[in-house]
Amino acid sequence: MTTPHTTGTVTLVGAGPGDPDLLTLKAVKAIAAATVLLVDDLVNEEVLQHAQRGARIVFVGKRGGCSSTPQAFIEKLMVSEALKGETVVRLKGGDPLIFGRGGEEMEALEAAGIDAQVVNGVTAGLAAMGNLKVSMTHRDHAHGVVFVTGHAKPGDAGTDWAALARTALQARLTLVIYMGIRGAAAIQEGLLQGLPASTPAAIVENASLPTQRHAVCTLGSLHATLQNEQLASPSVLVVGDVLQGLQAAQSDATAQPGFRDIA
Ligand code: SAH
Repeated sequence: MTTPHTTGTVTLVGAGPGDPDLLTLKAVKAIAAATVLLVDDLVNEEVLQHAQRGARIVFVGKRGGCSSTPQAFIEKLMVSEALKGETVVRLKGGDPLIFGRGGEEMEALEAAGIDAQVVNGVTAGLAAMGNLKVSMTHRDHAHGVVFVTGHAKPGDAGTDWAALARTALQARLTLVIYMGIRGAAAIQEGLLQGLPASTPAAIVENASLPTQRHAVCTLGSLHATLQNEQLASPSVLVVGDVLQGLQAAQSDATAQPGFRDIA
């Protein structure tokens, strides 16, 4: 008789954009069941209150540009803990498969013969627009939405912003740009090759958190607004006519004394 080979599990769990109340029930159950949690740095640590006492919690943050846990190490750790029989939860900000290398982690798990599970989370772009009360697919203004990264992997030429802008104009698409703060000047310059400078734009920092701030501007003033208001990461940049209402509300409000165009 052969001893059954016991293998643990790995679940990629979306911790949402920051507000711990935006966790799904499924995420809460997965966190509660975990014996090992590998936690990204954009994850609000408050969600760890759902973890069982005695669970091993490993912070593996990797903020762009800072020294952080190498991706290969994180992947190896997930695999080795699962093979030891642990119930591993990989907690990632927002949705686990929107940017943030979730796809690469799935591939590493598959390669190791582990059938990983996924628990979706609310991605930052959705939270940003929800908090601004703007529908990014309002049918009067847009036919769809593009989630696009402003930060390509090393050696990748990155997004062709001019081509994307032309497509966005023709196909009426809202652009939601992740990881775009550092490259904002170049993104603006590229997008201006296909979209008018008057196209409404917004920058939303810390969406869903009490520290959330945002500014509404135009594509032509995106980078200047970002600098003037000192908006920083984590932020999403949004470009598109769906923001028209917000822009109009802001111009009304700026006529009022004491109004600040940043909230
Ligand atoms: N998987 C995540 C995205 C990871 S990439 C998700 O689905 O949301 C990291 C980028 O997400 C940041 O650079 C920023 O552009 C965006 N981001 C994450 N949390 C954010 C927040 N609370 N507010 C605004 N942008 C956020």
